[in-house]
Amino acid sequence: MTHSIEHITLPTASLGTERNVTVHRFGTPGARPKAYLHAALHAQELPGIVVLEHLQKRLHEADAEGKIIGEIALVPFANPIGLSQQIMMEAQGRYDLDTNRNYNRGFPDLIGEVVEVIADSLTDDGDENVAVIRTAIGTALEGRKDAREADVLKLRLLQLSHDADLVLDLHSAWEALLHLFVTDVNWPDADDLARQIGAEVVLVDRGNRMMTFKSAHALLWKEVAARFPDHPVPPGSLTAVVELRGQRDVDDHLTRPDADNLYHWLQRRGVIAGSPGPLPEARCEPRSVVGLHRLTAEAGGILVYHRQLGHAVREGETFCHILDPETATRTPVTAPIDGLLYARRSHRFARKGQYFCAIAGDTPIEG
Ligand SMILES: [Zn+2]
Repeated sequence: MTHSIEHITLPTASLGTERNVTVHRFGTPGARPKAYLHAALHAQELPGIVVLEHLQKRLHEADAEGKIIGEIALVPFANPIGLSQQIMMEAQGRYDLDTNRNYNRGFPDLIGEVVEVIADSLTDDGDENVAVIRTAIGTALEGRKDAREADVLKLRLLQLSHDADLVLDLHSAWEALLHLFVTDVNWPDADDLARQIGAEVVLVDRGNRMMTFKSAHALLWKEVAARFPDHPVPPGSLTAVVELRGQRDVDDHLTRPDADNLYHWLQRRGVIAGSPGPLPEARCEPRSVVGLHRLTAEAGGILVYHRQLGHAVREGETFCHILDPETATRTPVTAPIDGLLYARRSHRFARKGQYFCAIAGDTPIEG
């Protein structure tokens, strides 16, 4: 049996407290491929936690049967700081209440540092280059002197994942279809993941400098490759954000099949032995994140939807009204683009200017 548990202690932020990141490891350290999965970086996004519990049970069985070929690291709840934030019975795990910063922004941007270190070390061998770059990332992470608890948390999550071949960041929206965010450097490589988990929306982006957890991986590999066009630099990891529907969708009838699909995907990628079965058909075409519209309320009031999640809206179609009960007027909300209504905030009251739903436009990916 290879399973082990590690508790990584975060620096004490407040007198008399201590928080830990729990890591479950399966397989032989250093074996390839290495997979890293964590859940609930935005702490109140709970479905991924349940999915990883189901997945862990399957991994224990595989471990007992000697089927773990690579190495697997699971962090079932990646943000114990956010999980501790409750205000008047409501979980508030998206933003650090201490700094008002989004927990999924501001991961260390190591691109410049890594480029400088590896400049004279790259060869014509892509695998060797990946190893050199991973070492440089690890060294850069070790050299950081972060003090704040939340910054150290981000550092630890990158230290656990920076050398993994497969990196999955499990989130959930308020109410949503199962969807995937992936950076172009990892597309179409992630097509098998999208099909295996039954993604109903796949959004392909270019990476962004807000340094989300995904960008800290994907953008780094993309930009290092761009800086050294004369050397082969394949992406050292496939990193994706899997949005497991809405925050309340924790029930086993949803989360157990999700875990089964992740298990099959790990088999497909050679991390676990055994046949994953046939690859399911894609449930959607990939869309460019350029066509993603996050709608903000033109008026304050109560959101009255006329269309459900998953409805294909047409540009100009009124799919919702915002009711102002003071004047009994309704402001129509029209779709800015042909696309899919795929995510909504759960609260049906919006303030003027507040984000309340998202439409994935039917915008094909570039090139
Ligand atoms: Zn999230």
